[in-house]
Amino acid sequence: MSRDSYAKLKKIIQNSEHHVIITHWSPDGDAMGSSLALYHFLTGLGKKASVVVPNDYPEFLNWLPGNARVVNYSQQPEKVKKLFAGADLIYTLDFNSFKRLEGLGDLLSQNQTPKMLIDHHQQPDTYAAYQLHDVKACSTCELVYDLICGLGHKKSLNKKIAACLYTGLMTDTGSFRYPSVNSKTHRILADLLETGIHPTDIHSAVYDSYSYNRLKLLGFALNEKLKILPGLPVAYFTLNEKELERFHYVKGDLEGLVNYPFSIKGIQLCALFNETDEYVKISFRSKGHIDVNKFARRYFNGGGHINAAGGKSMESLKLTEEKFVELVKTLF
Ligand code: 5GP
Ligand code: MN
Repeated sequence: MSRDSYAKLKKIIQNSEHHVIITHWSPDGDAMGSSLALYHFLTGLGKKASVVVPNDYPEFLNWLPGNARVVNYSQQPEKVKKLFAGADLIYTLDFNSFKRLEGLGDLLSQNQTPKMLIDHHQQPDTYAAYQLHDVKACSTCELVYDLICGLGHKKSLNKKIAACLYTGLMTDTGSFRYPSVNSKTHRILADLLETGIHPTDIHSAVYDSYSYNRLKLLGFALNEKLKILPGLPVAYFTLNEKELERFHYVKGDLEGLVNYPFSIKGIQLCALFNETDEYVKISFRSKGHIDVNKFARRYFNGGGHINAAGGKSMESLKLTEEKFVELVKTLF
């Protein structure tokens, strides 16, 4: 953990005019929630701020306040280059290695602007001059809340900021049930609710948003693709491109699928392998001390948290599955 003093962070924020906020490849609820909350906070201070994403994010996050202002590098690379060139301070939110940006990482590594890392993932790289890093934080949204309050601006919390922060807290904690949740999380939630946001609407906007095809894909995966390794508390799915096409897969349709096997008594590690046109995307989830961050880093070009990590494989889906089945035994 490395948290710079709020006095140090305040100084650089005050002295910077153009602020650029970047989040990771395939942004999730915490990535978008934390980035847009920080955006609303900075613009509220009278600063010029922009949010940049490397690629698209799921439709169930499009309702977030400020969504229309987000700049997508895969669609507007020239605009992003201009923003980078004019930036006084660049924030990197909810990731800690340029590898998590794919192509945008090359552009960022050439940029000399000071960076502020705000993140809760394990083992951060060392590119940031300013850091608000804490693996104990349940979400990057918790750290953005800490930043706002630490700078003495708790009164600036408004409905827009609160809706963004609530979304990230909710999605990164499995709706407030993971071990990262504690009394502080609930105190933050209480502060957010006092701004007048409607949690029921936020839950609905994010979770009651399935298409018919997405629900059928879930049914197919559970019914025909779920495997449990004999003698091990391990369950996993593989999905190839053809299977995904059959259900007209769009980004976000597999969100949450990896967790379903935990509802089977005794399961301690779940995995999902899905084929894309470039590589096999991998998600790992675990319970207790089983460290999937280390596992993903060591064997699958990835990382994340102890109980939730991801990675990728350039090998075929079949070979990736075989490799996993061999290696996962070493965890038990
Ligand atoms: P998910 O399985 O939902 O894609 O990701 C789970 C967690 O692992 C997230 O916190 C995410 O940031 C992290 N993660 C996912 N894919 C990768 C990856 O390829 N590399 C690293 N370092 N982290 C990843
Ligand atoms: Mn996060």
